[in-house]
Amino acid sequence: MAERILLVEDEEKLARMVEMELKYEGYRVDKALDGRSGLDLALGGGFDLVLLDIMLPQLSGMEVLRRLRRESQVPVIMLTARDSVVDKVAGLDSGADDYITKPFAIEELLARIRAALRNKNGQTGQSIPLAAGPLVMDVEKHQVTVRGQSVELTKKEFDLLRHLLENKGRVLTRETLLDAVWGFDFVGETNSVDVYIRFLRSKLDDAFDLKLIHTVRGVGYVIKED
Ligand code: CA
Repeated sequence: MAERILLVEDEEKLARMVEMELKYEGYRVDKALDGRSGLDLALGGGFDLVLLDIMLPQLSGMEVLRRLRRESQVPVIMLTARDSVVDKVAGLDSGADDYITKPFAIEELLARIRAALRNKNGQTGQSIPLAAGPLVMDVEKHQVTVRGQSVELTKKEFDLLRHLLENKGRVLTRETLLDAVWGFDFVGETNSVDVYIRFLRSKLDDAFDLKLIHTVRGVGYVIKED
């Protein structure tokens, strides 16, 4: 059964683009262009996830979230304008599960959606292990093994590997990885990603004679099985 996503976004062009991408990924999508109808739809229930813009006509995204949370624990990802740190903090405080900053790469949004849906399913006792070939990651135990052998990773290495595994088979740009792993407020060089990829390669590919982490020249990185 396809998972149902409610998209509340008043920028029609963006809403259409996101709707198209989500449908392409196999999700069922309902759309609302203002806060009031978004809240009504969300309260109607039946959604697995809500994507909620903050700046909305009629009822702000924050207000929609506050009212929705009185009745529903459906996962909510807020869509925020760049640099509005206050919004992000307030959103998370009011019960948003995650946020993503506009403009965003669609692959990043899809990864956040998968993570939020996985968390939701995890609450009902299901846990999907992340894996690529003989490499297995247990997120809850914060453990990585290759052929059953435990691998010691730092937090950044673990987070980077997790993000690659969550997007197995997809090429991720350095910027996407930087934003996902180092956070929205990171100021620095995108070659931090290259440095940490090198660490991961030496601990995984080199140590176990594998070829899991691939460089796509001029684009970024992808993890995939041989
Ligand atoms: Ca808006």
